[in-house]
Amino acid sequence: MERVPSLETPERILIVGAHPDDPDAFCGGSVAAWTDAGAEIWYVVVTSGDKGVPDPDTDISTFTETREQEQLNSAEYLGAQGVTFLRYLDGEVFDSLELRERITLEIRRFKPDLIITHDPLTRQYRQHPDHRAVGFATIHSAFPSSHLSTFFPQHAEEGFEPHVTRQLLLFGSDRPDTFIDIGATFERKIEALEMHVSQEAAFHGALRERMRNRAEGFGRDSGQYELAEAYLFVDLG
Ligand SMILES: [Zn+2]
Repeated sequence: MERVPSLETPERILIVGAHPDDPDAFCGGSVAAWTDAGAEIWYVVVTSGDKGVPDPDTDISTFTETREQEQLNSAEYLGAQGVTFLRYLDGEVFDSLELRERITLEIRRFKPDLIITHDPLTRQYRQHPDHRAVGFATIHSAFPSSHLSTFFPQHAEEGFEPHVTRQLLLFGSDRPDTFIDIGATFERKIEALEMHVSQEAAFHGALRERMRNRAEGFGRDSGQYELAEAYLFVDLG
């Protein structure tokens, strides 16, 4: 935290996740802490999680409606203002120009001073491909796309001007250097995750225990907190 003191009081934060529940799982404790401190937070969720059906006979459109509603509920519970669903197909996301255009528009619309997304360069080979794709697309949207009016000039015609965000945090990184204290908000994070009722089976039970072990590990890494979430900081300045 000493490296980036301004992260203690970000005012507008855009979180871009691949699937419903990713923002809550990776940074739900931070979201609650930041909204408690007065920050305004918006989620962008790129897919609606249609591959995570409990059985193959499930009606996909009903299922994705459920997943979106669960994400809306948990985001609101953590104090976020709302969620934009881009409705790409789960497991089929690429760092495409089209996806960058959609994310760039969200950046220009919400005007964050901090953007948070997946670290696409983790060396964990067992990694969801959507996490890598969304991480790359968001980084490329944060810089340079959203900065320059020459990228997606149609946005200006719609009233959305270029916007410069100077700070980026990446979650799921294997070399985190920035830690947020979630001691006061850990329970709310768990409660938010439990609102994703359709994912109960996917969580394989013991959600609280797994999340606590992870938060305790990051807490130890931080050298100052009991429970923490961890990020790699990228200076876009
Ligand atoms: Zn995911």
